[in-house]
Amino acid sequence: RNSDLAMYLAKKMGGGQYQHFHTSLSDQALQRMEVEAGLKQALQKGELRVYFQPQVDMRNGRITGTEALVRWQHPEKGLLMPGAFIPIAEETRLIIDLGNEVMRQACQQQVEWYRAGFNPGRVSVNLAGAQIHEADLVESVQNVLHQTGCKPQWLELEVTEGFIMQDTARTVPTLKQLKEMGILLSIDDFGTGYSSLTYLKRLPVCRLKIDQSFVRNSAMDPNDLAIIEAIIALANKLDLELIAEGVETEEQKKLLLQAGCPHAQGYLYGKPMPALELMEMLRENQTG
Ligand code: C2E
Ligand code: CA
Ligand code: CA
Ligand code: CA
Repeated sequence: RNSDLAMYLAKKMGGGQYQHFHTSLSDQALQRMEVEAGLKQALQKGELRVYFQPQVDMRNGRITGTEALVRWQHPEKGLLMPGAFIPIAEETRLIIDLGNEVMRQACQQQVEWYRAGFNPGRVSVNLAGAQIHEADLVESVQNVLHQTGCKPQWLELEVTEGFIMQDTARTVPTLKQLKEMGILLSIDDFGTGYSSLTYLKRLPVCRLKIDQSFVRNSAMDPNDLAIIEAIIALANKLDLELIAEGVETEEQKKLLLQAGCPHAQGYLYGKPMPALELMEMLRENQTG
């Protein structure tokens, strides 16, 4: 049947085009396999780097915490952004090893900063869906804390709305255990999914991160500002902490402060940066 179909397509599209269609598909599959194999090696060779983006209290400019964001220092291609490899890692079990590696580096860095006398607040680490559904997530987190000496109070985990709402019967007990250990949980990209209010109340969640798409348009589009205001009201009602993502301009800052959301993360305050740069920022932030 397949060869019949192939012949039909070949005739219909003309030989050259059929050939092109065929190779572009296998190119894609090849590229995916290449990234997958490379990533496995990257984990072994230590090519993954964690960058830190500051989170600030916009009322006084103080750094209140950071988000850990992975980068791949590729030997030939240079520094790769997560968009180039996270989606592929998520299709395999590699995302679990990658996630643990990021958590380990982030926690290790926290210990170094605290020992050096800085106060970086909490570090937020992204959890992929597969990690939350992994039976030994709690054990992995405990191992990382134990190995690095990081206190649970220095760690926060971020889960997107979609992942957290999936199979809550299984995830809620895991998340509750993490909370009991002293680890905060926040919902990433909030507003883009379908969290029901009932679930929000039942989940051991401490913080909502307002998705950057709303912040981006808030100055132009009254609908986006209205959504931000609704999220702020919701967070206040449910007694949840809040942070706005993707703050790039003074105008967005002003609108968020007026609306009652003083905590932010975004290019206005700093892009994700290597640990050394963040330390310089902490030095200035905490002495000046
Ligand atoms: P995210 O968790 O929503 O992270 C925020 C992303 O927005 C980051 O992109 C950050 O650099 C970017 N960003 C922050 N402020 C601004 C701003 O003011 N303007 C703009 N235009 N962008 C801003 P990045 O580092 O490229 O990461 C993209 C995504 O990759 C993350 O989105 C997250 O979903 C995923 N990711 C990154 N690191 C990890 C990780 O260690 N594990 C997992 N599972 N996913 C990760
Ligand atoms: Ca995040
Ligand atoms: Ca994420
Ligand atoms: Ca986000």
